[in-house]
Amino acid sequence: MPPRSSSQTRFIAAASAGRLARWLRLAGFDTSYHPRLPDGLLIARAMRDRRVILTRSRRILARRALPPVLVLKSEEPFEQLRQVIVELGLTPDPREFFNRCAFCNLVLETASRDEVREIVPPYVFKTRKEYRRCRGCGRIFWAGTHQASILRRLETLLPPKGGS
Ligand SMILES: [Zn+2]
Repeated sequence: MPPRSSSQTRFIAAASAGRLARWLRLAGFDTSYHPRLPDGLLIARAMRDRRVILTRSRRILARRALPPVLVLKSEEPFEQLRQVIVELGLTPDPREFFNRCAFCNLVLETASRDEVREIVPPYVFKTRKEYRRCRGCGRIFWAGTHQASILRRLETLLPPKGGS
């Protein structure tokens, strides 16, 4: 598969790759995931939407007509993410980090402090000014310690900074 820019590469995760789907979304990649989809429908959707199939199972490779498929080597989701990035020659874009809901795959919208006042814990409301909202699940997101630890892992996927 020739390398493509990250923003053009979209994924569909098989049932065996659900935790990877969350990581991909956190890294900004459009990743469809419906764990109960049978192989035939998974393939049809991947073809229709031009998505790369991600799976832990080689079973799907026995199908005749297939869109691009990446079979994941590791059981560990972050190692799977690293494999996807390396094998497809992708460069994650830090500006896209945390732009998607990890649970719904929808792009997050900005939420005002007024909108979240009654929803987020008071200590968060006191200390955070910027919030995002998912219109799929209604979750509110903000930069916190959890996000910081995820960010540190995502940053290990970026190419080393050039120049001196
Ligand atoms: Zn959501």
